[in-house]
Amino acid sequence: MSENIRVRFAPSPTGPLHMGGVRTALYNYLFARKNDGKMILRIEDTDQTRFVPGAEQYIMESLAWCGIQFDEGIIEGGSYGPYRQSERKSIYAAYSDQLIQSGNAYYAFDTAEELDELRKQAEAERKTFIYNSESRKSLRNSLNMNDVEVKKHLDEGVPYVVRFLIPENTSITMNDLIRGTVTVKSETLDDKVLFKSDGMPTYHLANIVDDHLMEISHVIRGEEWLPSLPLHVLLYEAFEWKKPQFAHLPLLLKPDGNGKLSKRDGDRLGFPVFPMQWKDPTTGEISSGYRENGYYPEAFVNMLALLGWNPGSDQEIFGMNELIEAFSLDRVGKSGSKFDPEKTKWFNHQYLIRQTDEALAQEWLKWLKAEKNLEPEKKKVVKIVSLIKERVNFVQELWEEANFFFETPESYDEKVVKKRWKTDSSEQMKTLAILLDDIQDFSAEMIDEKIKIWITENELSMGGIMNALRLLLVGAAKGPHLGDIMEVLGKTESIKRISSGIKALSN
Ligand code: GLU
Repeated sequence: MSENIRVRFAPSPTGPLHMGGVRTALYNYLFARKNDGKMILRIEDTDQTRFVPGAEQYIMESLAWCGIQFDEGIIEGGSYGPYRQSERKSIYAAYSDQLIQSGNAYYAFDTAEELDELRKQAEAERKTFIYNSESRKSLRNSLNMNDVEVKKHLDEGVPYVVRFLIPENTSITMNDLIRGTVTVKSETLDDKVLFKSDGMPTYHLANIVDDHLMEISHVIRGEEWLPSLPLHVLLYEAFEWKKPQFAHLPLLLKPDGNGKLSKRDGDRLGFPVFPMQWKDPTTGEISSGYRENGYYPEAFVNMLALLGWNPGSDQEIFGMNELIEAFSLDRVGKSGSKFDPEKTKWFNHQYLIRQTDEALAQEWLKWLKAEKNLEPEKKKVVKIVSLIKERVNFVQELWEEANFFFETPESYDEKVVKKRWKTDSSEQMKTLAILLDDIQDFSAEMIDEKIKIWITENELSMGGIMNALRLLLVGAAKGPHLGDIMEVLGKTESIKRISSGIKALSN
């Protein structure tokens, strides 16, 4: 692409960033990196009634956790700043005035009560009140006043809003890189508020002015903004500015495909919808996050990348650089993508098993210290991790699969005892303990070999012996290969467990 590619992620700090928002940021980032462009973070905080303390920090920390980096933003700086709209307040009034001067916008002095009354009346008639080409003719706005009257209102400080004047009887044609050409009739649109007499712009005005001033080339955002696109296109035309290209990303859907994925689905179905844990500053309510639930950011990002975009091949595992390499907007689908919590765990599993045993052991050592106050020898932990990593999706699940390496069984799974502990088990295990005691090189290989010879020579059942032995060593019917377990436990501990197990089960 020859033009300068500049994209932005423009969140409003009204709460935690939903995973759909993270995906929007991710696609912007991939697109920017792929095309040698710039990625900008702009905080859209003009609606101060919806400001939530901590949200801005949360958004930035979440994106950093995901490895999504910005070239310009409130931290990075840049020559198009400031990057927080509340700090750009002085910029917007002139643009609002410009639209009034050019006849594309007007002052509306209707009070909130008056408009409420109109809404109620309309509702009573089963209609919806819309401030549009029809209703504006009989409302308190500058279109129905002469210049003297307007000036008088303004001089007296009567509160007002500036509304965009939607042109009558025209069609607005928009191009979207994902959806193609979309046309809407101007009658379906309302005269949206652009600016308020408190000096603050609304989202629509600030967004368009900033995209223009920041020379944004591509607006990549969620499908929920598609209804705003006709207004945005009209605003660009009214300002006589070059439009950016638009791409509206498909929705993230609930796992059953019925509707948009919401915070409540996460609570109801037991998966996070936020990248990091969030504590609501007002209610204190905690919403779970992928980070705290033990996901690797790479797994979370990989999963999100494929939720709406496809690489055109069967490849599923993509690191960030591979995503950048493979990404293109023409492989983003139009229809919503169903979120699959199980597949998300699968992705984490894939990243977990790709860790070196060293790295995984290091992570688990931290967990063991923090959660179990255990500080086992690293070499032992590396070995254990190599034996069981295939069985888990998360580091915190390792304990459930491997606790017996650290704790001698105190009880024995009753069902397993019933099924696996036979009348001759005691005698067999005693003999086996003597045999094990004789092994000098207590390695899995050696142990396996000796047991096999003993079983064959005595015509015993391999399954019967191994099941009983596992019960004594582990306390249950779980765990990796027995030779490996014994190698890790060591000779003394293995024999000790066999003896105390026999005692416990013979009573
Ligand atoms: N501030 C809007 C939001 O919160 C930005 C929408 C856009 O990207 O234009 O999503």
